Amino acid sequence: MKSMKEEKWKNKALHGQYPKILEKPHVDTVTTNKWLSSNLKVETEGLLVAAQDQAINTRDYQKVICGQQVESKCRMCSQHEETVDHIVPGCEELAKTEYISRHNKAAAYLHWSICNDHDIEITDKWYEHEPEIVMHNKDNNITIMWDMPQKFNTDRTITANIPDIIVKDSVNSTCKLIDMHDCSIR
Ligand SMILES: [Zn+2]
Repeated sequence: MKSMKEEKWKNKALHGQYPKILEKPHVDTVTTNKWLSSNLKVETEGLLVAAQDQAINTRDYQKVICGQQVESKCRMCSQHEETVDHIVPGCEELAKTEYISRHNKAAAYLHWSICNDHDIEITDKWYEHEPEIVMHNKDNNITIMWDMPQKFNTDRTITANIPDIIVKDSVNSTCKLIDMHDCSIR
């Protein structure tokens, strides 16, 4: 029954694109699907799954799938077809605002988790966490730096030399540089 449903899903022209991408050799399916075991609200999970299946009421969906006589270009940039693939990572207008705030929110969660791992005092809820530029635990000599404004000197030229997070361990003389990238336009 399960494999029959999977086959039916994959054979759908639009909704089947996502399960087909998951079969590509570079995709780690376990990690990719891990978010499904988190405690998201049913409505949120439903919306995300619908977006993966491209079953969101975009203009392109209205025109191509529903056959409506509507303008199919993106409401934000008016340049590209308004598909899920465009809205999530590819819109120049959203890149200026929404993608930046998405990036910062995800990086703030990472920062909150790292502080937690190193016994640095943080808020109970990750989404209330506002990273400070420098946070330090003097007991274990760990310093966490957030979005440092100056460029980081490297031996060879690296264009992405302003990391989002730096974890400096003065006891073991190590420094971890963390930079988050998503597939949006930069
Ligand atoms: Zn757009």
